[in-house]
Amino acid sequence: AVRAAEIRALIRDVPDYPHPPVVFRDITPLLADGRALADVVDAFARLVEADADGVDVVVGMEARGFLLGAPLATRLGVGFVPLRKAGKLPPPVEREDYELEYGAAAIELAAGTLAPGARVLVVDDVLATGGTAQAAVRLVERCGGRVSALAFLLELDGLGGRDRLAGQTVETLLRVE
Ligand code: 5GP
Repeated sequence: AVRAAEIRALIRDVPDYPHPPVVFRDITPLLADGRALADVVDAFARLVEADADGVDVVVGMEARGFLLGAPLATRLGVGFVPLRKAGKLPPPVEREDYELEYGAAAIELAAGTLAPGARVLVVDDVLATGGTAQAAVRLVERCGGRVSALAFLLELDGLGGRDRLAGQTVETLLRVE
C-alpha cells in the first residue's frame, strides 16, 4: 500500500493561495521525490487494475493530471490523451464549457483521438468540487469514449466532489478535510 503519511508530508499546504480563504495543496515536493512519485503511480495502477472495468487510454487533465497521468499510462501499457484548457490545442477540437466557483471555464480534447467506445481513465491531482472532473466526463462521452474510472491523488473532503461524480468509479489515494 502507498505510505499515506509519507505522501501527505510531501504535499505542501499554502494558505490563501490563489486567494483567501483557499488553502492550496501543492504537490510539487511529491513530484520531486523519485520514490514517492513511483509509489503513487504504482498505487494508482493497483487501484485501477482492481476496480476499473478495463482501461484503453488515460485522459489527463491540464496541467498536473499530465504529470501523473502520463507515467500511469506507461505503467498500464496504454496511451495518453491530454485534456487541455481552451485555446491550447490546434484544431480540430471538441470543447466543453463549465462553471467554476468564480466564473466559467472550458476544456478541449483533440477531435478524433478517442477510439469509439474507448474505456477511459481520467486522471487529475486534486478532486475539489468535482466541476472540472464532471466536465471531463461529459467531454469524453461526447467524444465517443466511456469513463471506466477517475483517479485523483488527493480528495478534498466536504466540497461535494464525490457526490457530483455519483455513478462513476472514483479512486483517490489520500483524503484531507
Ligand atoms: P474542482 O473542479 O474539483 O473544484 O477543482 C479541481 C481542479 O482544480 C483540478 O484540476 C485541480 O488540479 C485544481 N485544484 C483545485 N484545488 C486545488 C488545490 O488545492 N491544489 C491543487 N494542486 N490543485 C487544485
